Amino acid sequence: MDSEKVRRRVLSNKRGSGLSEGTHLIRSFPTDSLRGADALITEILGGVLCKAPRSVAERYEALYVAALDKVLSRRMGAVESLEFDGELREVLDQAEQILGPGLAKEMEPVMRRYMEKAFRTGHALRGLPGTVQTLFDKPRREAVDWLVKHDGFYLGKVFPEFVREPFRDAIAQGIQEGLGRKDIAKRLREIMAGSPEAPGKESAYTRVASVGVNRAHNWGGAFALEAAQVETYTWRAVSDERSCARCMLFDGRTFSTAPAMSLVRRALAKPPEAIEKISPWPLEDAETGEPYIERGGRRESLKGKDEAWLQEQGMGLPPLHCSCRCVVLANVE
Ligand SMILES: [Zn+2]
Ligand SMILES: [Zn+2]
Repeated sequence: MDSEKVRRRVLSNKRGSGLSEGTHLIRSFPTDSLRGADALITEILGGVLCKAPRSVAERYEALYVAALDKVLSRRMGAVESLEFDGELREVLDQAEQILGPGLAKEMEPVMRRYMEKAFRTGHALRGLPGTVQTLFDKPRREAVDWLVKHDGFYLGKVFPEFVREPFRDAIAQGIQEGLGRKDIAKRLREIMAGSPEAPGKESAYTRVASVGVNRAHNWGGAFALEAAQVETYTWRAVSDERSCARCMLFDGRTFSTAPAMSLVRRALAKPPEAIEKISPWPLEDAETGEPYIERGGRRESLKGKDEAWLQEQGMGLPPLHCSCRCVVLANVE
């Protein structure tokens, strides 16, 4: 089984049983112990998510991460002493709340700002009439509403998927070694922010931001192409996509506007979590690097497939993966 599959299985297991168990656990603990756990997590996370931008292309993510940092810093408070032994699980449950649904809810205003900004930037495709470029009617506002929910959905996935296990291991290991609260907190901070020896998980949050921004941007583009009656567009992979086999397979190819917009409308009619079925992300074969998708339990290679087939499978619009920066360009004379 490839690692992606393992990760998904781990995630769905946690979703299935872990959450309800966690809810029960939270109710059975005294409030001040919960408050302590909450404060510990915020102490650990405050200030670790802010980094200077690395390039112009990452400006959205940088803004997003700065906003995350603000939200998390605000939650910082006095940290009381904690007995770790009994609290491992509710520390994790608290972390899941704070870093998952709790964070997504608090982040909503900032998500909305960036989703709308990205959508409008994508909507202003070069070569289209100004009347189209500035259009922001009800269907477009509804699309942005959906994109905000979509961003929250991905944010809610980050903690369980990327951080929960290393957090649990670090806390358990620390207890075994007889470490104090401060030392364990230091280890958790390293998991989030990284250290010279280990890369850390901060990238998980920038990946969430880049998915939402990329999707909003290209959906804006699709709406504009339709309004301007431009029948086809070109897929363009940008800068750091050059080495990615998935994006390069799409780069430079011509796709049709009508099926792209039908994909968007299909997605809009469903909750954000359905996007993974409606618009699947291709994976790369571990040995050959060949891009493929999974349909009905079997692999379907993307190699040699035409544009119509790719669009039928739901791959007519970027993003193709977490840090995908591909864009659409209007085919106008
Ligand atoms: Zn790529
Ligand atoms: Zn890409």
